[in-house]
Amino acid sequence: MTRKEMDKLGWDELDILLVTGDGYVDHPSYGAALLGRWLVHHGYRVGMAAQPKWDGPDDVTRMGRPRLFAGVTAGSLDSMLAHYTAFRKKRSDDAYTPGGMAGNRPNRACIAYTNVVQRAFPGLPVILGGIEASLRRISHYDFWVDNVRKSIVLDSKATAITYGMAENSIVALADAIRDSEDRSIRALRPILVNIPGLVVAGARKDIPEDAAVVELPSHEDILADPQALIKATLLLERQVHQNKETAIQESGGRLVIITPPGEPLQTDGLDQLAGLPFSRLPHPSYTERIPSAAMIQTSVTTHRGCAGGCSFCALALHQGRQIRSRSKDSILEEVERITEVKGWTGSISDVGGPSANMWGAHCASDQSKCKRSSCLTPAICKHYKVAQGDFVNLLRSVSDVESVKHVRVASGWRIDLALTDMRALSCMIQEFVGGQAKVAPEHQVDHVLKLMRKPGFSAFEKFLDLFDKESKKAGKKQYVIPYLMSAFPGCTDDDMRALSDWLRAQGWKPEQVQCFIPLPGTAAAAMFHAETDLEGNPIFVAKSDAQRLRQHGILMPTMGRPPKGKQHRGKPSFSKGQQGRGKRR
Ligand code: SF4
Repeated sequence: MTRKEMDKLGWDELDILLVTGDGYVDHPSYGAALLGRWLVHHGYRVGMAAQPKWDGPDDVTRMGRPRLFAGVTAGSLDSMLAHYTAFRKKRSDDAYTPGGMAGNRPNRACIAYTNVVQRAFPGLPVILGGIEASLRRISHYDFWVDNVRKSIVLDSKATAITYGMAENSIVALADAIRDSEDRSIRALRPILVNIPGLVVAGARKDIPEDAAVVELPSHEDILADPQALIKATLLLERQVHQNKETAIQESGGRLVIITPPGEPLQTDGLDQLAGLPFSRLPHPSYTERIPSAAMIQTSVTTHRGCAGGCSFCALALHQGRQIRSRSKDSILEEVERITEVKGWTGSISDVGGPSANMWGAHCASDQSKCKRSSCLTPAICKHYKVAQGDFVNLLRSVSDVESVKHVRVASGWRIDLALTDMRALSCMIQEFVGGQAKVAPEHQVDHVLKLMRKPGFSAFEKFLDLFDKESKKAGKKQYVIPYLMSAFPGCTDDDMRALSDWLRAQGWKPEQVQCFIPLPGTAAAAMFHAETDLEGNPIFVAKSDAQRLRQHGILMPTMGRPPKGKQHRGKPSFSKGQQGRGKRR
């Protein structure tokens, strides 16, 4: 982060500067830290400008002009989501910032940071990455301005975007820039359009000759007809899942070229990545605590991807539906390293991933021909294979590591999948809940669940019965924390009342409810904008703040409206007789 640190490493210049909207935590859960370590591992000298000021160049020029390029990310969250509530009120907190207060990153951080870097280092290639750039890679609905925006590669004037999990694409891209004498965008474009996992602005003549091309509705088509946004979104989902097409989109006379998804890291690559020398701690220059860093310091990520394909979730669009898992040895080695970190208390706070019980899952068929949008709904695909008993054995091995006293699964469980292996589920409930199990029924009304691409509600009721029974058997008082959502497209006030009645019948009192926020690029955002389901059938959508607040208030009558400045991005926390707090997704 400083010249002094460069001198210590014997670096006279940087090859790559990474600019991030998060505080710098040297932990694999932070994208910039992860790619920084990965690039250093591949021989590049990488500097980090964490939460630089965006009204002048000083913070990005501190370590000099990098030789190859600058990588820019808004951070772990879309900057608009980080800054505004579901009711478009400004948040006061930011869990990724030292001191936990908002204000250290700009709105639309990718665009703002790109401008700073381009002013500071004219002609330097700027590569966007991370969730904000990834989800805004084609024309997308932006909730915060209630309008459709162009691909962020055009809005920011960046050289390219690396979308999804970028380890392989960013190394290929760094190698290509290193090997080019001319680093202008004109010279680089023909090379970049052949690297998987990138988005580049160009023209039709730039499409590689041998590419299998899928053309998305243009930006202008989408402005004219919201159904075109649904079509573009579904085609992009298919591109991510089938992993072979180059997608293109016309936009204001330019062509946005989205190369096929980058080859994801497999078990070997993930193990190698996890074995890099992360300190797991915030940069020593910080004097204040970074809330999110404290939360993940003793958690272990076992896999990437989520097979669920929920229509509101950004995960499948970013990490993909295919699960890539780390080996058991690598996970246990990481646990051993955690026990050596300063402040170790004996508890592993989480062993999991986007959905806890998907470690080791795989498709036993040919995914590249699959037309489904979810491996789990409307019913679990017969080709979807996972041995959840192996996950239980993994957890028991983690418990056996010396000085580990408690192991907990704090990641959400996919309940329909959990119910396919009662033995594994009983063990999980009896041994690894740690007081609270997080599950995501999201709603109670089946037509809303269908629009969400979630399993029917009966799966949740079955899970609850089993949870109570197994907890009693283990002699433990523990609770289910269900994530629920108001104002989803297709959800009416009557649907919210039905959910509220069900909760009342259980004696459950909601403490916090997630009001649906349409995330750019997701199928649910397209439905919200189009006011139809994905087949084009009209649905009711609570669109105005007043309608959304009313639905929200049905579950949270004591609140009516959210208190000023209070955040609503966290998942709701409910419990039977006890309050809990949902971990942010
Ligand atoms: S074939 Fe089945 S398991 Fe394989 S990707 Fe498609 S839905 Fe998923």
